[in-house]
Amino acid sequence: MNVRLSHFLIAALLVAPAALADDSRICNASARECEQAIRQLSSGRRYLGASIQELNPGIRVKAVNEDGPAERADLRPGDRLMAINGHGTRSASIQDFKKILYDAKETGVLWIIVQRDGILKKIEVRLEPYTKAQIDKMVAQHLAQFHAIATTAPQQ
Ligand SMILES: [Zn+2]
Repeated sequence: MNVRLSHFLIAALLVAPAALADDSRICNASARECEQAIRQLSSGRRYLGASIQELNPGIRVKAVNEDGPAERADLRPGDRLMAINGHGTRSASIQDFKKILYDAKETGVLWIIVQRDGILKKIEVRLEPYTKAQIDKMVAQHLAQFHAIATTAPQQ
């Protein structure tokens, strides 16, 4: 597995499985390599269950996965993220968000101040480990999206 692939997968896993859909890069690794990498990287890793959108400047919640940590904490689509774990995120980028999420991996807790309908609200999200079913789904989604061509294209 090459380094670029692993960084891509970590970034995708940290945000949400839905984030994979926004990424149009083609995967050059073998399906088996990818499956192993996804299983290895997601094992023991915690997830948020929401996808985040960049506003330039700023970030907001784009979508919240059903029955995930973000939904349980009442994070909602459209919420603008004003601060997370003491970092001001009023003009943050997706990269800043990923770094904050990564730094929170030990405690698994995000203290978020969101702006919703002009009102500031404090939300505490407890990140949760991926279940086996979620990991299976991520593998299936990745293979379907990035390796589908390989199964129908003529062999070289
Ligand atoms: Zn792949």
